[in-house]
Amino acid sequence: MAHSPVSLLLDFLFPPRCPLCRAYVETRGTLCAACRQMVLRPHRLALPPALAALVHEAWAVAPYHEGLQPVIRALKYGRKRALLPAFHTLLVAAGLPLLRADFAVPVPLHAARERERGFNQAEAIFHAYLAAQQIPILRALARTRPTPPLYGLAPHERKAALRGAFALAEPIAIRSRHILLIDDILTTGATLTACAHLLKKGGAARIDLLVLASDHA
Ligand SMILES: [Zn+2]
Repeated sequence: MAHSPVSLLLDFLFPPRCPLCRAYVETRGTLCAACRQMVLRPHRLALPPALAALVHEAWAVAPYHEGLQPVIRALKYGRKRALLPAFHTLLVAAGLPLLRADFAVPVPLHAARERERGFNQAEAIFHAYLAAQQIPILRALARTRPTPPLYGLAPHERKAALRGAFALAEPIAIRSRHILLIDDILTTGATLTACAHLLKKGGAARIDLLVLASDHA
């Protein structure tokens, strides 16, 4: 596809631009060198205590608020799937240590939300990266009801909003397995804690965590 007549015509009509700063770039679907240097901060996450108790290792590739927030929001709320190659090249460039897991489990969306969005962002972001590492994605969790936005809620309100919101969709498959829980971002950790808790309760042997962006050090 890279040099097909259609893509050459597209590049001529709409020269590829960096999705963060709009500078022209050579390859469609990549960040410019300056933005890449600014956002690429692969780091091991220091997790909030409740999540740290459930998760063995946790990694993020970039900061969120001072980093990928505008493009992650554009993917989720603007449904800009054209951003996916940019995320993939960041993941590859991050050079994270080799991940080992039996399955990657995405944080689920409620079915109505996923229909509206057209995809699950965690799955979309990591799909190619995980395929290259031969880690299959398993939808082991389901969201049983829509949940309100957690932003701005106090910790106890977040917990209440998420109570009973997730269920195990693959209770047998996860038992005694090493699971890589994936999501686009880690902010307060409330959602990921609820998911990790359920996986642990369901008998997962080990849970690691990978997100694209987080402000946790
Ligand atoms: Zn840029």
